[in-house]
Amino acid sequence: MTLTGTDMLGLVDVQPTFMPGGELAVAEGDLVVPLINRLLAGPFRHAFATQDWHPRGHSSFASTHPGKQPFETVQMPYGPQTLWPDHAIQGSANAALHPDLVHDRIELIIRKGFDPKIDSYSAFYENDRTTTTGLDAWLRARGVRRVFLAGLATDYCVAWSAEDAVRHGFEVVVIEDACRGIGLPLPSGGTTMDAAQRRLAELGVAFTTSAALL
Ligand SMILES: [Zn+2]
Repeated sequence: MTLTGTDMLGLVDVQPTFMPGGELAVAEGDLVVPLINRLLAGPFRHAFATQDWHPRGHSSFASTHPGKQPFETVQMPYGPQTLWPDHAIQGSANAALHPDLVHDRIELIIRKGFDPKIDSYSAFYENDRTTTTGLDAWLRARGVRRVFLAGLATDYCVAWSAEDAVRHGFEVVVIEDACRGIGLPLPSGGTTMDAAQRRLAELGVAFTTSAALL
């Protein structure tokens, strides 16, 4: 796959809070860091990163809802919301971008989830899917045509970012081996990983590997 100056690498939530030993650990989440560093050092000229960034007592935390457990779903004014263990607490070491991530080439860092009342999976919108982070305007102003995504977690923040990027008219490519997912079981069978991959493929999102880009 040949990259051009209008391609952008988007790094989703590469934070220790989502890695083994973190509060909302994604299995093998730490393995994406060296791959992403190689992508940043080589083929991509431009990159942005998102950073999950919650105040204590955030409405997406199960601990905020008496009697609720992590991974249960509640109804919020903006729709169903999965509840999570407390994670990505503003200012905590685990909410920083991973210390091994080579930051030099990251041109923009978007913090999300800072409104106590609303979660934010996507790099583009909060979970009401209307409150923008401003990323669309920034990408457009930079002349970006195609967004490559890597990071955590495939089935939540990466998938929602991919969907919104498609919605805004960008070509989207997910770098599969530079992502890891959570894979919660669904009542209808399968997991959130299967569902996300199906949804993205239907939207025309392409999938590649870091090897195809390096
Ligand atoms: Zn979060």
